[in-house]
This record gives sequence, C-alpha cells and structure tokens, in this order.
Amino acid sequence: MNYQSTRDRSAKVSAAGAIVQGISHEGGLFVPETLPVFTPEELQSLVGLSYNEKARAVLSRFLTDFTSDEIAHCVDGAYNTRSFDTPGISAISKVGDNRYLLELWHGPTCAFKDMALQLLPYLMKVSMDKAAPGTEVVVLVATSGDTGKAALAGFAGVPGTRMLVFYPEDGVSRMQKLQMVTQEGENVSVCAIKGNFDDAQTGVKAIFTDPAIEEELRRNGQTFSSANSINWGRLVPQIVYYVAAYTSLIEQEEIAFGDTVNVCVPTGNFGNILAAYYAKKMGVPIGKLICASNRNNVLTDFIRTGVYDRNRGFYTTTSPSMDILISSNLERLLFHLAGEDDALIRRWFAQLAETGRYAVTPEVKEKLQAEFVGGFCDDQAAEETIHRLFAAYGYLCDPHTAVAVKVHEEYVRETGDDTRTIIASTASPYKFCGSVLPAVTDIPVPEDPFAQMELLRQVSGMAAPASLMGLREKAVRFTGSIEKGQMAEKVREMLR
Ligand SMILES: *Cc1c(COP(=O)(O)O)cnc(C)c1O
Repeated sequence: MNYQSTRDRSAKVSAAGAIVQGISHEGGLFVPETLPVFTPEELQSLVGLSYNEKARAVLSRFLTDFTSDEIAHCVDGAYNTRSFDTPGISAISKVGDNRYLLELWHGPTCAFKDMALQLLPYLMKVSMDKAAPGTEVVVLVATSGDTGKAALAGFAGVPGTRMLVFYPEDGVSRMQKLQMVTQEGENVSVCAIKGNFDDAQTGVKAIFTDPAIEEELRRNGQTFSSANSINWGRLVPQIVYYVAAYTSLIEQEEIAFGDTVNVCVPTGNFGNILAAYYAKKMGVPIGKLICASNRNNVLTDFIRTGVYDRNRGFYTTTSPSMDILISSNLERLLFHLAGEDDALIRRWFAQLAETGRYAVTPEVKEKLQAEFVGGFCDDQAAEETIHRLFAAYGYLCDPHTAVAVKVHEEYVRETGDDTRTIIASTASPYKFCGSVLPAVTDIPVPEDPFAQMELLRQVSGMAAPASLMGLREKAVRFTGSIEKGQMAEKVREMLR
C-alpha cells in the first residue's frame, strides 16, 4: 500500500518513505491510498489479545512494506513494562454511567504522546534502513509542551538520529518545561522561542520546505523528518489504542461485540481524534466523534459552520497542549471528505496561508457534520469539572481531559444521546498540578513544582509518577530563548 500527498496525489511514497520524509515536498501530508478494513470476524478475533498483539494487527495493515518480524520488533521495543506503568499499556476507568476514560498517559512522560512517540523511533529506524540507508535523520519538532518531551524521551540516544525541539517560551506548564530542559542525550536539544505554538509549527514547516537548508543537509548525508503528528508514523500508533479500547470494553463485558460507542477527544492539532476517525473507517463501530476544544475554539466553529477562521484572539489556557489555532491534521480529514480532491485542498490551504480563512463546500460540511460534533469549554468550567469528578467518584483528571469530559456532558444534555462513550484522557493530572490543585483543595498552591506534586499526593491519595518526581535530581541543560525569526539559524548551528 502506498501513501499519497493531500496536495498532490501523484506524489506517492511507501510507508517507510512517508515516515522518513514526514511531510511531502509541496507541503501536503501523507495519507494511505486506500484505508484497510477489518471484517467483523477479524475485529472479533482481536478480543482477548494483548495490547502488543492488537498493535501488530493494526500496524501490519498500514505498514505493508515492513515484515511481520520488523513490526513485532518495533512494537515490543516500544510497549513494555519498562516504559509503561501498566501491563495493558493504556487503561480504562469507568467514571459514571456509560462513560469510560481511556487513560493514555501511563508512559514515561505522562502524556498520551508517549503512545506514538515510544514507537516512532523504532519505525523511523526501520524506515531509514529501507528508504534512505546510511543517512542521518534530523528530526525537528514544534511543541505545545507534551510532544517535545515525549519525542526527546523516544529519540534520546537513538543512533543515526538528531533532534531539535522548539517550544513557546511562555506557552508550556512549569512541569513541561522542566521535563524538556533537563533532557539528557547527546543527540537531542531544546530551544525556547518568543512566540506561541503556531509560530513554532509554522517556523518548522518553513524550514522543512526551505530548498537551501535541504541542499545543506544533502551535502552532509542528512535528511529532515518530523516527530509531529504531521508524520504518518505518529498517527498510525494512535489508531491502535482505539481498536484496543473497543475490544477491551468487550473483554470487560461493558459492551457486546458490534455495539456502537461514541468517542470524545480533547483536541489541539486534530491528530488524536483523526486516529479515532481512521479506527471507525477500519470497521470499529464508532458513532459520533466529539471534538472538544478549550477557549481556542476554532474547531468548534469550523464543525458548526464549515468555515475555518484563525483570525481571532489566541488564549493561553490551563490546557496548553490544545492552545492551537492551526490544526494540521484537519487537512487529512478534509482530503478524505472532499473525495481526495488535491486541487481543492491546495486552494483551501493556500487561502489559509494568505487570509487565515477558508470555507468548505456544502457537501464537505454535510459529511463533516455526519461524523463530528464540536464543543468547547473555558478554564473555569474545566476546573469545576475536575472538582466534580473528584468529589463524586474520587477520580482525578488533568485539565485537558476535563475539557473533554465537560464537552461530552454538554453534548449528552443537548442531544439526549447517552451512547456509551470513550473519552480520551490525555495527560496525568500530575503534569498540571498548578491547575489541578485549586480544583481539589483550598490549601494555597505552593510555588515549587515538587511541593505541588507532594500536596496533590496528600490531597488525592493517588501516587505521583516516578519519572516526574525524579526530575528534581536532574540538571538543567537548556536555557535562554530566541526570536521566532532565528529558528532556521538555530537549525544550521545544530547541523554544524
Ligand atoms: C497533544 C495533546 C492534546 C491534543 O492532541 P492533538 O492530537 O494535537 O489533537 C490534548 N491533550 C494533551 C495532554 C496533549 O498532550
């Protein structure tokens, strides 16, 4: 199976090629030419299998140029109890009637990004050997906080790779920053920029498509790639956990085979919810895909009106990983919904670059609304939701997850659709102590992040992740920040 670019269908590559390249030369994203489908019998045969077995079944459908041994090697290297604190890799907590929180934060950096970024370095290594043997891969990352650390943790010490992570100086939580600036590993570095996440992402995309830098790399025997969710190798591991969650609910006798479930996802770059869409297209009985946003609600408006308009205020919220106005992966969805019309996608995304706005056709809007529902909530409603879940169920969730819980509650209230729902829980509450503590205690929040974790432990009784507590012992390796216009220079510096 080959992959094609959303902006030029004639640009075709293998799965390995898509993973090495990250993004197509003309700026489009790679998508599978045809979507693989599980028959009901094939889906049912996954019930009772381990996470790794389910992962192999899904990945082998998409990575057809990988051997089954290669896939098994990648999967077992990534998903094991050395890196994840639960043997199931992800976990499901039933919190109230018909509501299942799919905890995707049991990996080394305590956010759902680990689900993909523990696997990506393995996929990258195998792909390099196939598509670009002997070259060194230079991975550039733009992060709103969680991707950066997860990518660093995945790639640190991986031979044949170098990584540079850009993050918005004032756009990440204290814990997220601490996680990044203390990262060890000769081949990885971190750089703060004076700007927001969109500036970082736009800057990285510009560097990727800069012919002069590309030429410099070629001379050095290097090639660029991406660990952001524009890379297909980031998305495909995320499809796995929706397939795994559905079959786990059958194992736990919460649903019968064939029952429909809704999925609600706290959304930023649209990668996680797009993976749920792909799982649905593969045959998992998913009903509505509920897209939850914070106050940066560009996606809510888009789903409701068919008009994407990023000309609006940018807010820094308590769910920083969703503080995004340009959701890259929407491009993949629109390509599918628009009947793979690459010319139309080129036009819309040229309009987005020029005017910050595009309007989809009535047909595309109708298809969008048949699958997706959008909703948003502000910081205060998220805090109130954390408080309420803790008071009612003793369950502690982070602010991103709280946004999804709240949006789902509103959806049920407005529509009466009480279909059982999987809600993606995307981060450990310990990553965001500063916002979680005020929701669950009146004790003033201490300044020191480790004192915050200790207080949260006392108040909640939930154990603090060892990987976060261990940061206290680590030295800070990266300080200072640069203007957003200096990003290309920073990359050149690293290459030298
Ligand atoms: C990245 C992230 C999100 C947003 O996921 P997308 O795939 O970008 O939509 C939500 N919550 C947390 C905690 C994240 O780290």
